[in-house]
Amino acid sequence: MRIFWAITCFLVTLTLAISDVQAQTKFDKELVRVRILTNSKKVQVAGLGLRFQILSEPYRPVAIPSSGSAEVRVMRKDGKNIWALRLNNRENEHLFKEKYLMIQGENLRVGGQSLPSRVLLAKGPGDQVDVVGVLPLDEYIAGVLASEMPISWPLETLKAQAVAARSYALAVMAEREDKAYHLESSVLDQVFRHIAGDDSDPKLQKALQAVRETAGIKLYDGGRNILKAYYHADCGGHTTLAKNVWSGGVNSGVAVDNSCPTNPKANWTVKFSRTEIADKLKLQDISKLILDRPKGESRIRGVRVAFNETESRYIPANEFRQALGFTELRSTLFDLKENDNEFVFSGRGFGHGVGLCQWGSRALGLKGKSFVQILKHYYPAAQIAQN
Ligand SMILES: [Zn+2]
Repeated sequence: MRIFWAITCFLVTLTLAISDVQAQTKFDKELVRVRILTNSKKVQVAGLGLRFQILSEPYRPVAIPSSGSAEVRVMRKDGKNIWALRLNNRENEHLFKEKYLMIQGENLRVGGQSLPSRVLLAKGPGDQVDVVGVLPLDEYIAGVLASEMPISWPLETLKAQAVAARSYALAVMAEREDKAYHLESSVLDQVFRHIAGDDSDPKLQKALQAVRETAGIKLYDGGRNILKAYYHADCGGHTTLAKNVWSGGVNSGVAVDNSCPTNPKANWTVKFSRTEIADKLKLQDISKLILDRPKGESRIRGVRVAFNETESRYIPANEFRQALGFTELRSTLFDLKENDNEFVFSGRGFGHGVGLCQWGSRALGLKGKSFVQILKHYYPAAQIAQN
């Protein structure tokens, strides 16, 4: 009897595993999935030739609103996603029991935001609708370039950024291939906005040229794996290793960078009151912040926070930055002074400091360095290859 149950359980598990695999293979592996919008329980979609599809039957639209717009929401029932579609402002909703809903059309928009011509809707936390753009890799990279770097910067600098962004995206796509989306469209991954419209726009032309002239070129991590090529705004004079920021990651090398002071905001000061710091760290009665800076390092590794008179807690540097705000505490390259009820942070640079430094790569581009030279400078332990 036990053997019977064991076999039955095994078969059930196997069937579940197979159906999971089948669900995954419905994604087109060549295309990037980037989450563009979230935090909304109801989304208003509009576009020319707007049509809704399901992944199990990708060639047959399940709904075509004649008005070119529709309202979508999602709910969970008996462990399944139910999508509710209201077409042409009618009373009744069309219901679909599907994990994901696909939208295609030209000039697609959700709210005021322009989207790629293919969009996946997935259920986010709390019945929110995640709006995920689905697009070819290089179209995505052009959107990252236009968001991450001023397009007026030297072409070779943009090309170096294109290779870094492509490598980062491919490495993350491999890590998250089963998820509804690979990448966030924010600083959590790479800032991305869909570039709508006119291909003759000179700014867009330059982004597309940088992507085209580096087509298929990627960074590798010393083995066969594509390098998760981190980059940041301004290293403050010296880049650092991934393991110093996230206590893990591949060693892509470090660079001394004399070019960063060209950033007009290279040096910064920010003040927080004792109460502000306590609120942000969710601790009470902070008495002291003690910086942990390893010998010979300019960046801090962490902060020991003394609170409640006798207690203390160690917070790794990147978590400390995140708690105080990545745009306020611009880097971990800072000194600290304590006034009566105030902590004054004076620092250099902007960002985590790993991999390519954007301000430094601008200076190298202006000096006439090629994108390959720029990449070798910032990822000295990586290889560059085209395929
Ligand atoms: Zn730099």
